Amino acid sequence: MTISTQSIPHFLKAIKAEIAANADEVTALDQAIGDGDHVTNLLRGLEALEKQSSELAEMEWSDALMKIGMTLMSTMGGASGSLYGSLFVAMGKEAKNNTMSLQSLAEIFHAGVQAVKTRGKAELGEKTMLDTLIPASHALNVKADAEASDVLDAIKQAAYDGMLSTKDMLATKGRASFLGERARGHIDAGARTSQLIICAIADVMEKSD
Ligand code: ADP
Ligand code: MG
Repeated sequence: MTISTQSIPHFLKAIKAEIAANADEVTALDQAIGDGDHVTNLLRGLEALEKQSSELAEMEWSDALMKIGMTLMSTMGGASGSLYGSLFVAMGKEAKNNTMSLQSLAEIFHAGVQAVKTRGKAELGEKTMLDTLIPASHALNVKADAEASDVLDAIKQAAYDGMLSTKDMLATKGRASFLGERARGHIDAGARTSQLIICAIADVMEKSD
């Protein structure tokens, strides 16, 4: 399976639809243990990206991913703006070829997740988007030479399980960390949106395989 930047508009459309469909739920999650603005921040970023989508489709992967990251950084705001921004900028820096295979996506995504860890000074188990991103990145690495549909299913499952795992965690980073025990019992908003984004991308890739 190879993915070209011509698919970017399809990815963006699917991501925006998925986030919009779950916006109320994500807002409630961020209201419970944060300040409630996460989905608004993200939708602002996605709207800015939609305006660039035909331009992005004509770019090389490296430039397109970096532009996506810069746009998210400059439009989203919030902790998640700089974290999602860093994810895509780092992916862009790692992307070398203009045809992306699942194998190269695994390497690129791994670099992106590393950048989020560095930027957020966070690790697995701190009740953040990293609890979705790290397991999804592992699922992509382990099975990169397997059937594309199996790899994509494994990523979706890992992202979903990772998202759910945040429910019973104590938060040690971000706003939720001020709540101590009161953060337990609530899924992290950023873990949920990163799972929704990963699943939306995987679904588009499965359909185009
Ligand atoms: P803010 O917390 O500034 O209001 P958002 O509401 O947009 O920003 O995003 C909050 C999300 O950002 C959290 O749900 C969490 O997933 C993620 N997050 C916050 N701090 C960190 C961090 N240090 N490392 C990784 N992710 C983080
Ligand atoms: Mg918030």
